[in-house]
Amino acid sequence: HLDQRVKVRGSKELRQLGEAFNIMSEKLENLDRARNEFVSNASHELKTPLSAIKVLTESLIHMDVDDPSIYREFLEDINSEIDRLNAIINDLLTLVKIDTEAEELKQEPVDLVELVHSTLKGLQILAQKKNIRLETFYDDRLIVSGDAVKLRQVVSNIVDNAIKYTPEGGRVTVEVYKGVENAVVKVSDTGIGIPAKDLPHIFDRFFRVDKARSRTTGGTGLGLSIAQKIVLQHGGNIRVVSEEGKGSTFYVELPIKENKQ
Ligand code: ADP
Repeated sequence: HLDQRVKVRGSKELRQLGEAFNIMSEKLENLDRARNEFVSNASHELKTPLSAIKVLTESLIHMDVDDPSIYREFLEDINSEIDRLNAIINDLLTLVKIDTEAEELKQEPVDLVELVHSTLKGLQILAQKKNIRLETFYDDRLIVSGDAVKLRQVVSNIVDNAIKYTPEGGRVTVEVYKGVENAVVKVSDTGIGIPAKDLPHIFDRFFRVDKARSRTTGGTGLGLSIAQKIVLQHGGNIRVVSEEGKGSTFYVELPIKENKQ
């Protein structure tokens, strides 16, 4: 028996099978590690607002003041921490949904100009609130193939960021045009920019240049990773050019389906 096993183990096919098995188990291990890291990061992100709520409610329980406005203040803080929990959970669910629906991604013709135009309508109010000028430059109809709801989310996340990270009185410019090979959505802002050292991490899950600032702006650190995932699924590409203190420009490139007038 022993002899046979040694012989079989020595055969070329089995060796190859063994190697394949090792590669596979290494991949599975990496996948496991990535998943664990994700769960651990997500839990940490959820714990922060939860801890804040705990502290606030405990203070409320032990509070003995006559002024009702103090209670109101605490309740408002609790309310915004709950909003934050909600935002994180919504983004996490979106991430999972994008993954699970990857194989059945819609491949419908989508007019990118029309899509960007209608998405910006909802963001105009946000810009106005900060006295930010939202400028647009559109090419003619530009048809790409994909899922309009998901592509709308990409545009919304990027323009929402541009408004969020641009101080009052700034400018956000959105252009849709036909590039050399792709349809391009270019979003530039005159905002705070991104430090060069942080640029390679900008699309990572939960990454934020400034966690404290991001908390006050309501960011989850998931918006860009969601956007990138969707764009890659559409066979496209997303990149950023930025200078700290000057502003950022995001480019979303998508394969053109047709360009009929
Ligand atoms: P968040 O929800 O925090 O905005 P994102 O994934 O959308 O998360 O973005 C990740 C980080 O990238 C942000 O926290 C911010 O630091 C930085 N960032 C994204 N867009 C811009 C921009 N237009 N200008 C400056 N910084 C940006």
